[in-house]
Amino acid sequence: MEYRSTRENDTALFASQAIIKGISKDGGLFVPSRFPDLRDSLEKFKELDYKQLAAEVMGAYLDEFDKDTLLEYAEKAYSRYDCKEVVPVKKLGGGIHMLELWHGPTMAFKDMALQMLPLLLTGSLKIQKQDKNILILVATSGDTGKAALEGFCDVEHTGICVFYPHDGVSKAQKLQMVTQDGNNVMVSGIYGNFDDAQTGVKKLFADEEFNSKVEELGYSLSSANSINWGRLLPQIVYYFWGYLELVRSGSVKMGDKMNVCVPTGNFGNILAAYYAKQMGLPVGTLICASNVNNVLTDFFKTGTYCANREFYKTNSPSMDILISSNLERLLYHFSGENDKEIKRLMADLKEKGEYTVSGDIKDKMDKEFFVGYCNEQATLDVINTVFDEQKYLMDTHTAVAYDVVCQYKRETGDDAPCLVASTASPYKFSASVVDALDYPVEDDVFKNAEKIEEVTGVKIPKPLLALKNKDVRFNGICSKEDMAKIVLDWIKNNG
Ligand SMILES: *Cc1c(COP(=O)(O)O)cnc(C)c1O
Repeated sequence: MEYRSTRENDTALFASQAIIKGISKDGGLFVPSRFPDLRDSLEKFKELDYKQLAAEVMGAYLDEFDKDTLLEYAEKAYSRYDCKEVVPVKKLGGGIHMLELWHGPTMAFKDMALQMLPLLLTGSLKIQKQDKNILILVATSGDTGKAALEGFCDVEHTGICVFYPHDGVSKAQKLQMVTQDGNNVMVSGIYGNFDDAQTGVKKLFADEEFNSKVEELGYSLSSANSINWGRLLPQIVYYFWGYLELVRSGSVKMGDKMNVCVPTGNFGNILAAYYAKQMGLPVGTLICASNVNNVLTDFFKTGTYCANREFYKTNSPSMDILISSNLERLLYHFSGENDKEIKRLMADLKEKGEYTVSGDIKDKMDKEFFVGYCNEQATLDVINTVFDEQKYLMDTHTAVAYDVVCQYKRETGDDAPCLVASTASPYKFSASVVDALDYPVEDDVFKNAEKIEEVTGVKIPKPLLALKNKDVRFNGICSKEDMAKIVLDWIKNNG
């Protein structure tokens, strides 16, 4: 299996090389040069547990790793989950099935990939016989940062620096990050929003002077953002799992289609669903749900991606994003792997803040995707109504997806079963959930959590309770311009 950059596809890399690099020197993202077809294995996969399934699906892309190693990785990565299925699927009314991806250590779906990525990365270093240390740089809208910190905490030969928008994450998210344990971790707020953090980190990756200083200190840079192939790959697995759960519960007949709806920010999670479909999983429509930062909704409707627009801070902060990085991969596939075209579109985005795709690409987008968005009040209303009517509690991001599935059903009349990616525990966004349930919001994260538990009977997750007695270790905030210096100083003092 070969991997190529979306912006310059004449050189091919092995998976281990693509995972170590994270992002290509030309700014492009690595994509597999073909999709393995697993259609005929579905019947056999029905008998596997989550960890075994993960080894099979990932193995189809990672021919340098043997199956036993991958199974070992999966057992380790998903050992900290609070339920034995790893990913439970809950059936609601109207053929809606909630794929609960947040039973891991940080209570958001990003653990699915970030508990696995460090294992894939250290395995890749061994395969490539590299003895350099790896420095992971992360820009986070809240959930990636904590999940990456947990994944890389005290992993040998790695260090991790996380930047978050200091005014743009929930209280629980911030508390999780600034109290992080480990001797190889650094966390800092930045003045600005998530796009500023992400642009800052991308700049560092492209900055040759910075890279050579890092190398002199014995490290090379890598990424844990969803642009890394090692992060995307573990996310493909759970769409297979979700489908097989629907088959096992009799909600869908083997071979019949399910739709998939994903609350979307950087387009990683929904891209993984698209990849699962390319691998022969019976998926019908891919439903892309956004909050009022609806740049993707407009893009899929018009063919013009326009990032020059107001940025809103919402109650689903992990989706407050205007530059959706993984979209580049989808466009690459839709363009017939035309690297020149992608390079041009991304240059337009950088220079003008917008680009327009060809009619050809637009046709493919129309065929595969349905898009919609949900405002903040409607998000709270969904949480309230679904709890009231079905006794099912969801977080704000998941509520956005639920609302858009309802829009899809109303507009199309399609009543095929739909798998909804439930991306965070309701306790991770407890202030909004308390608000949605019509109780007064407290300043204190734990008081809000206790209120939710009292009213709904849903137990407070252990990782949240554990934060109660922890000390703040990182209270710095910096400007975008200072990021390079902060990272270099940190390596000098801690590396
Ligand atoms: C990261 C995140 C999303 C968005 O996922 P993408 O892969 O970036 O599209 C949605 N919900 C939650 C809770 C998240 O943490």
